[in-house]
Amino acid sequence: MKKGTVVIIGAGIAGLSTAYYLVNQGWNVQIIEQNTLDNNCSYGNAGMIVPSHFTPMASPGMISQGIRWMFDKKSPFYVRPSLNFNLMDWGFKFMRYANKNHVSAHVEPLRDLNVYSSQLYDSLSQDSAFNFELEQNGIMMLYKTKSVEYEEKELAKRAQELGLDVEIKTAEEMQALESGVKIDILGGILYKCDGKLNPMKLMKQLVSYLKSRGVIFHEQTKVKGYNILGNKIKEIVTDKGNYAGDEFVLCPGSYLMELTNKLHLKLPLMPGKGYSFMYTPPTHVKLEHAALLLEAKVAVTPMDGKIRFGGTMELGSPNNKIYKNRVEGIVNSIPKYLKNLSVDYPKQDIWYGYRPCPPDGLPYLGRTSKYDNVTIAAGGGMMGLSLGPAMGKSISDILSNRKIETNISVFSPDRFG
Ligand SMILES: Cc1cc2nc3c(=O)[nH]c(=O)nc-3n(C[C@H](O)[C@H](O)[C@H](O)COP(=O)(O)OP(=O)(O)OC[C@H]3O[C@@H](n4cnc5c(N)ncnc54)[C@H](O)[C@@H]3O)c2cc1C
Repeated sequence: MKKGTVVIIGAGIAGLSTAYYLVNQGWNVQIIEQNTLDNNCSYGNAGMIVPSHFTPMASPGMISQGIRWMFDKKSPFYVRPSLNFNLMDWGFKFMRYANKNHVSAHVEPLRDLNVYSSQLYDSLSQDSAFNFELEQNGIMMLYKTKSVEYEEKELAKRAQELGLDVEIKTAEEMQALESGVKIDILGGILYKCDGKLNPMKLMKQLVSYLKSRGVIFHEQTKVKGYNILGNKIKEIVTDKGNYAGDEFVLCPGSYLMELTNKLHLKLPLMPGKGYSFMYTPPTHVKLEHAALLLEAKVAVTPMDGKIRFGGTMELGSPNNKIYKNRVEGIVNSIPKYLKNLSVDYPKQDIWYGYRPCPPDGLPYLGRTSKYDNVTIAAGGGMMGLSLGPAMGKSISDILSNRKIETNISVFSPDRFG
């Protein structure tokens, strides 16, 4: 027996994962997506599954580092100066949360949600409908400087205390893991708890699977507002008509505030633009593991026989421009770590997406107390792909009155009031 109708707004990894668990728990599911089903932040990202990311982005050191980067036009972090009130408000809040107490209060719930999600990816990959190149073979964190070495070793020790499978390695030990590339580093950390997948394949296969299970997609349909009755949304208003439902799940990625402001909910969030591109290496070059080039903040992921490079974080309102300096920053950093890779500035197919970044670095996950039938799964920031299945499963468990597997109370959508 069907449980009722759930309307999900947004067909990114958060929305599709939510639909996956809901349809399998017997709900009627409809997904409203303003674009077509082939591009959003969930398609072109670096594909890393990261229990290693157990510290929120708002952490000590980020402010001074961020200010230093602001004056370097090829740096991995940039805030486009503007009189945007949301951006200023976000900045003040970020500064308030970038402290040790905030970090230590949230490492365990973030670790648990990430580890749970990684396990859910394992289960998903067992289903014969899916083959998205999941490899849980670890991510290499590579560093070149003494200062980053100190920070990363401290972090690795904390990860070990938290029970994560992590090994501190010398440069030679790292090189021994990768015979097909010449690595030039001071040392590295191998997060064996991490993994990688092909996000494009994952997203396409999820869409096909959901369609085969009767999920209805309303593409190129933009949610504009709501018809509300008492404490409930009765229907959502779109540019193509209204859609009624019993439950409404908001998974709109970086566009969250457009939707929550109309519900008078306070969920601050800024889009963090990042770029990626594919590189076809020469046949003698082979990379086994995904890697993060730490000082440069560049992600390197073997994918589909090629290598995907990704990076930069430009905070500000979305725009369609590709800032060449930022992409050059990624390109120029590669041979500093991976000696025998000669990567030119990509001539075409530079992809960009907007990470949904809350100022405290924590996702928004759960039911809002302000409405009886609204839940939110958004704000995954730099780990939104990684957290997708855990966010989706948690929402479906809330709606089906089942036990939620990890403590998500700290991710409450009500935490800013
Ligand atoms: C360069 C780069 C590398 C990254 N690498 C990784 C990584 O390795 N690992 C990781 O975990 N994360 C990574 N991320 C982050 C990750 O990609 C995002 O956090 C994640 O994809 C966000 O998913 P989402 O479903 O919340 O949002 P999205 O994927 O953006 O989906 C939201 C959808 O909602 C739709 N929508 C919004 N508003 C409306 C509306 N009003 N009506 C209808 N539809 C609407 C949008 O069109 C969009 O399709 C990376 C990001 C970037 C930019």
